[in-house]
Formats: sequence, C-alpha cells, structure tokens
Amino acid sequence: MNAPALLRMTAPLREDFDIPYHDLGHPERAPKLALVAGIHGDELNGVFVLARLANFLTRVAAGAHPGQTLCERVIIIPCVNVLGLNTRSRRWPFDGTDINRMFPGYDAGETTQRIAHAVLELTRPAHYRVDIHSSNLDFEELPQVRLYEPNDVERATAHRFGLPAVIELRMNTVFTSTLGHAWRVCGGENFVLQAGRAGVVQAAHSERLFQALVAFLQRTEILRGAPLSDVDEDVHHFGPRQAVPLISTTAGFFVSRAEVGRWLQAGDVIGLVYDGFDGELRQEVRAPVPGLLSGVRRQPLLFEGDLIARIHSRQVVPDSVDTHLQGQGQ
Ligand SMILES: [Zn+2]
Repeated sequence: MNAPALLRMTAPLREDFDIPYHDLGHPERAPKLALVAGIHGDELNGVFVLARLANFLTRVAAGAHPGQTLCERVIIIPCVNVLGLNTRSRRWPFDGTDINRMFPGYDAGETTQRIAHAVLELTRPAHYRVDIHSSNLDFEELPQVRLYEPNDVERATAHRFGLPAVIELRMNTVFTSTLGHAWRVCGGENFVLQAGRAGVVQAAHSERLFQALVAFLQRTEILRGAPLSDVDEDVHHFGPRQAVPLISTTAGFFVSRAEVGRWLQAGDVIGLVYDGFDGELRQEVRAPVPGLLSGVRRQPLLFEGDLIARIHSRQVVPDSVDTHLQGQGQ
C-alpha cells in the first residue's frame, strides 16, 4: 500500500502493521477538512463511506471527473481501529480499550494512547473536523449531526451536510475523553456524525452519508464543479431538551415496527413486546409524543431498562435522561 501511515506498530509475532490514511489535494496547504471513522472497529457504515469518498476524491484529483476540482487539502482516516475491524471488535483487540475514551492521548503511552495522540496531531491543523460513528449492535440511528454545546458558526455549518437531523447535546463526562471533545480545544469547527447501527453496512444510510459528505464538500467550496445532490431533505434542528427516550419497562422479545426517519403521531406503534416463553403479547410500544423517530432498537432480546427508541420532538419536553451515549456508539 502506498498510502501514508498515521502510526506504524509492531506485533509480538507477526509483521508490523499501520493505520493508513488518505492525504488528498494540495500537499503544501494546511488541510481544510479531516474525516475520521472506524474508531470503533465494528462501525462499518462510516468506514465504508470514507473509503468510497477517498476513492471519489482521488479520481477527482486525478482529473477523472472533468469539470470537478478538489480545491483544498483533505485528510481521510477511514478506519482508526484497523485491528478491531479485522477481528470484528469494537475495541482495540490487544488490551480491550475503547480508543474513543483515550483522547487527547499520549505519544509515549500505551498503544491506544499513542493512536489517540496520532489521530489528534494529524487532524488538528484542519479547519473542519468530522468524526463518524454508528450506534452499537442493538440500536439503529437515523443519519444525524451531533453537536455538543456548539457555537453559532458550528450550528450554521452543521446544516451544510443536509442530513435530516441536527441534534444539540449537553456536555457530559463520557464525552470529555472522546476525539470530538479533544478537537474543541483546537478551534475550528467540529462535528460528530452518527448513522445506522454497528456490525453491518446499511446501503441506504451509507448512501445518505456519502451524499451528505459530498454536499458538505461542495457547500464549503472544498469541491467545485460537481452537480449538487438532489437527495437533500428538510433539515430539522433539535435542542438538548427535545429528545424523548423510550425505556423498556418489561422484558421479552421486541419486534420493531417502525423505520428511523419517520415522523410519528402520538400513539403510533413503534414495536411490540412478546413474552419469551408463552408468546403472549405483553406490550405495544407507542410514541408518547409526536416527533421524528431518530433511533430504534433492532435487537429483539429486551431487558427492563433497555433503550427501545428515541423520538425528537418539535417542542421542548420535560428533562429526561440523556441516552445518546447509551451503547457507547460514540
Ligand atoms: Zn463509535
């Protein structure tokens, strides 16, 4: 592979391994945009989309798309947790650490601390920085932009992705160890994207995400001359007090009946809970408020206290538990 390596690491028995990345556009300029995915090795949608985007931009830079120009330098790390991806593991396989709990990292530290440090150093000079995640294996998220206590510039720029939901969240202690948080002290504009669930490549979500990134490149004039995507839909902006999580009050088999991205009326059925032994219908899970179904459970084995769905309401709702980091999708 000719791609530059973020970090070169040795293994006890086998050959050395790298974390490769793409460095596209004008090499003498500071990067305008840094895109990162695969910090969690089982979140395949983001890895797949960034690999495809790197392919597209490489072709644009080589003149394969007449009339289109890559005007700025772009850094793309399709997969940070390369070993986790190869072994279908969310965490770093050698020591079980979550790389997104290791930031800002340490260049003389343990492996995942060194990885975190290297990711931060490579992406620090960029003006726009984007970290892409999926949820866990159990839960599916509507493709969305997440903002943690953003400034007004980030709030406006977030709409340039054209994704259906821009979701503002409060700062929390878990988030402070993530790449998204480490970027905040570097200035610039920082975004976390969430799309789909872990363990699978979901064609519709991946396509949506790819189009969102191309639209963002065009609207920030990093990419010029490409036809504007026609898949843009209404972007809805939600504040931290517009999220309504549905938490399970009964265990059983959960069968989901709704697709993410649907606008629900109060009372609409989201799913059914059946008894695991006698098959009796135990509960119809219904939307308590009207709103956008931004996430839904796909894992049928349901325990009391599990997150079943998340609805984003057009109105401010009473304070509720923040479930956005449940399952450690981020
Ligand atoms: Zn993740």
